[in-house]
Amino acid sequence: MSSLVIHDLHVSIGDKPIVKGLSLTVNSGEVHAIMGPNGTGKSTLAKVIAGHPDYTVTGGDVLLDGRSVLAQEADERARAGLFLAFQYPSEIPGVSIANFLRAAVQARLPEGEEIDATAYYKRLYAKMDLLKIDRKFTSRAVNEGFSGGEKKRCEILQMAMLEPKMAVMDETDSGLDIDALRIVSDGVNALRGPGLGVLMITHYQRLLNHIVPDFVHVMYDGRIVKSGDKSLALDLESRGYDWVKQELAALPA
Ligand code: ADP
Ligand code: MG
Repeated sequence: MSSLVIHDLHVSIGDKPIVKGLSLTVNSGEVHAIMGPNGTGKSTLAKVIAGHPDYTVTGGDVLLDGRSVLAQEADERARAGLFLAFQYPSEIPGVSIANFLRAAVQARLPEGEEIDATAYYKRLYAKMDLLKIDRKFTSRAVNEGFSGGEKKRCEILQMAMLEPKMAVMDETDSGLDIDALRIVSDGVNALRGPGLGVLMITHYQRLLNHIVPDFVHVMYDGRIVKSGDKSLALDLESRGYDWVKQELAALPA
């Protein structure tokens, strides 16, 4: 059983506060969705969890299985079991997906331990079958000339091979055409299970028709202002975010 605990997190970019006291716990086996209007700090949250250097944590903590990850480098966080969908190089000409993934898996082995090539390919092909990915795909160079959908396929395959405890995915507006949307949702659905927690950040209620979340959170002005189950995502689709803002405004200060 794994947990990702975000505790009263405050984040600034320069001296501008962006995340303003956000708390959230994701346990393994759970899929949480964070939705919210543009500019509310969703991607900032994802990048801080990933260890992006532009963001300053001014308060609070992020803990994986009870240990703070904030002082860890991005690759240390990955080795601890965090998967961050965008931390990987966007294009690596001349390096096949199969070799890239092999290096990524090798990097996570203990010092001095060598990957077993036969076992590696067996596992790779099993994951590709699970995700319905064509064998030819892994001989292509990483992201070189890829469509949005192929980039997503590569990302989901990385996630399948690294077997993280927690995956944080920021599905921004770009690259999510129908094809990419289906690849992400089929992939997450194939990988979800008792050993994996998912924090899915999205703008698109539509994505949540395919990946049915256990919990939905609304982020507004750097905080989670409302949490619920999947029906909250449907309410947001039909009513937008204004009613959430009005509810907030009606609360006593
Ligand atoms: P969301 O993903 O919810 O749309 P972001 O986290 O991308 O929101 O942005 C939150 C706020 O932080 C916005 O006001 C945005 O302009 C600002 N911001 C994000 N990244 C940077 C950056 N690298 N430099 C300066 N301001 C930024
Ligand atoms: Mg964003």
